[in-house]
Amino acid sequence: MTVVQTQKISLGGTSEIREERPVGRSMRRGFLNTCPACGQGKLFAKFLRTVDHCACCDQRLDDHRADDLPPYIVITIVGHVMVGGYMATDLVWSLNSWQHLAIWAPLTILASVALMQPVKGAVIGLQWALRMHGFGDKPDAPEDRLPDQAPPR
Ligand SMILES: [Zn+2]
Repeated sequence: MTVVQTQKISLGGTSEIREERPVGRSMRRGFLNTCPACGQGKLFAKFLRTVDHCACCDQRLDDHRADDLPPYIVITIVGHVMVGGYMATDLVWSLNSWQHLAIWAPLTILASVALMQPVKGAVIGLQWALRMHGFGDKPDAPEDRLPDQAPPR
């Protein structure tokens, strides 16, 4: 059973009570491929494709806009680890360039593929916790719509 905690917020003189969405918990659930709302249902249907709705709590999950943020985060993490690893290895052993390439290129690809889904899940969890885009209480504002989502004239 999921306990829903609420918070009272005041915006512009009006106050409302709404469901609390802790950022750390939501990002952790997304990182672990579970729904950020309930932590039970699967977040991804395929490698990087989210399910439309959570099978457990019916939270809509296809409205996220993770876009390019997960690849940027993965590039930053993997780049720092691999360059640091390359430099540390180069200090200890004297390897040829092709030997370094044979070691670090596959490791970079494997690490990037391994991190992409968890990082995207964490970004979706962050967006859900912050009520961004389709995860808010209200439908997207017209200025938030992508150009191909503009209503017909
Ligand atoms: Zn759920």
